Amino acid sequence: MARLPSIKDKNLELSGKVVLVRTGMDVPLDESGLVTDDSRIQEAVPTINYLVEKGAKVVLLTHIGRPGGKVIESQRVEAAAVKLSIILKQDVKPLKDCIGEDVENAIKGMKNGEIVFLENLRFHQEEEANDVVFAQQLARLGNIYVNDAFSNSHRSHASIVGIPKYLPSYAGLLLDKEIKALNAAVEKPKRPLVVVLGGAKVSDKIGVIRNLGVKADKLIIGGAMMFTFYRSKGFDVGTSRFEADKVSLADDLLNEFADKIVLPVDVIIADKFANDARTQVAAAGEVPAGWMGLDIGPESVRRFVKELSEAGTIIWNGPLGVFEFPNFAEGTLAVANAVSGMTGKATTLIGGGDTLAAVEKAGLKGKFSHSSTGGGAMLEFLEGKTLPGVAALLASTARED
Ligand code: AMP
Repeated sequence: MARLPSIKDKNLELSGKVVLVRTGMDVPLDESGLVTDDSRIQEAVPTINYLVEKGAKVVLLTHIGRPGGKVIESQRVEAAAVKLSIILKQDVKPLKDCIGEDVENAIKGMKNGEIVFLENLRFHQEEEANDVVFAQQLARLGNIYVNDAFSNSHRSHASIVGIPKYLPSYAGLLLDKEIKALNAAVEKPKRPLVVVLGGAKVSDKIGVIRNLGVKADKLIIGGAMMFTFYRSKGFDVGTSRFEADKVSLADDLLNEFADKIVLPVDVIIADKFANDARTQVAAAGEVPAGWMGLDIGPESVRRFVKELSEAGTIIWNGPLGVFEFPNFAEGTLAVANAVSGMTGKATTLIGGGDTLAAVEKAGLKGKFSHSSTGGGAMLEFLEGKTLPGVAALLASTARED
């Protein structure tokens, strides 16, 4: 990939410039519209601080939730703006819309170093439709565009791929950090590169398995995905979740990457899909009728931990079992501990909403070389694709140079 243009790389004159910053402040809000987890706000702070210090007029853009093109009172950006202003100890003024005359006038009145927050982009259906006129209306508000929303950069939405067609455009510090960390792990890993993939569906991870199957040294597979692989060998999986229409594909992947794919050898089986189910340990390919595998078993944990202990680089995305049920979280928590225990000795990179939730449950938040803020974006990157948001920045640089 060509070098991503970052706001810090070029000696950009930012003083007095109106900088539109697409952030990923899609924070979870409760029914009354209060922020329940401010991690995504914290992640946006370094870029905002940098721009404020340089004397830019900072205009923040984000979407929150899925309002579907109409105004939803509880999804206004105001609560995020309040949180951000507390963190920054500086005023952050939420505006009533993200385009239009009032917004233009508010921006005209800004002083250097001030911050305004445009209203939720997805109150306009044109955002997700990547509408050209909407992108132009947004672009008209500023002199420079910064994309700091890694978690949304796999979306071809107006604020991600539309605006950079019209303005000099750069990566913010978070986007830059994410791309550098992922790129280094995939392209120049300290070997062995061990990839751990979990979660429900093979279908979501086919591209990743294909791309990393070539690049990685080991691909550890857990979660319900494992049963699609076991079905492809004709083994008994009982009532375990698997994807019938992906069985032959799983067989192809197993043949193609036979020396790399590591499957669990045993599973914790349950007589119903509930935390209080009766449980047993079974061989992974011998799940009795009426039972389902909800976690990896102790021997699998032992083998996975051994593979991880020998790694130079680890990439982990997806829980190894139904970690939402405490009785079936052990495999995921053991992997979380093993991966974080390698931080320092190896490069450890994790991502995906469930993975981050599991890590938080294990009290291991922040104990990895890199925790990606993107789920879907991380997977697309690991598939070897250039994210549309990144491609848009590269195209902008090519135009400016
Ligand atoms: P994904 O969205 O594909 O990353 O899948 C995450 C979900 O997979 C989590 O909600 C887990 O509970 C679920 N999951 C993991 N292992 C299993 C399993 N053995 N059976 C059913 N669901 C599982």
